[in-house]
Amino acid sequence: MARYTGAVCRLCRREGQKLFLKGERCYTDKCGLTRRAYAPGQHGQGRKKLSGYGLQLREKQKARRYYGVLEGQFRHYFEIAERKPGKTGENLLRLLECRLDNIVYRAGFATTRRQARQLVSHGHFTLNGRRIDIPSIRLNPGDVLEVRPISQKSEYFKNLPNVMGAASVTPLS
Ligand code: SF4
Repeated sequence: MARYTGAVCRLCRREGQKLFLKGERCYTDKCGLTRRAYAPGQHGQGRKKLSGYGLQLREKQKARRYYGVLEGQFRHYFEIAERKPGKTGENLLRLLECRLDNIVYRAGFATTRRQARQLVSHGHFTLNGRRIDIPSIRLNPGDVLEVRPISQKSEYFKNLPNVMGAASVTPLS
């Protein structure tokens, strides 16, 4: 289960846009992009004009980093999205949105997708009654995601504001 383990703020700085990868810190003056609003590295403050290919590359990298997916897996999602009927871009986003770590984040159990990923891999959730620890599992409409009873007793889940113990997945139109 590979994941990106490098510095996070440099990803936002590279894209020149806040990707909100660090939760509350992203809304404060400590945000890496607020402090240093230029790309990382020796040439980060150099030439900015992008080619057509460069633009496409940046947009792809942005989506990949936003959802915390590595290149190989992202390509795999793209191939699935391409085979499905409809617009490839929309299919791709749908696939990414249906990932378990993303749904845990969207349901409010975590402040970032990275944190959601950790909660999942530490086995705090059940899906349709079965314990799961794979963040990339794709959920389907009607699936029920719950915090395990033993985890509900932990300080972390007790202190979560406005969150119930379970979330039901609704279909994406
Ligand atoms: Fe990006 Fe958040 Fe870091 Fe700011 S604090 S650069 S939004 S990850």
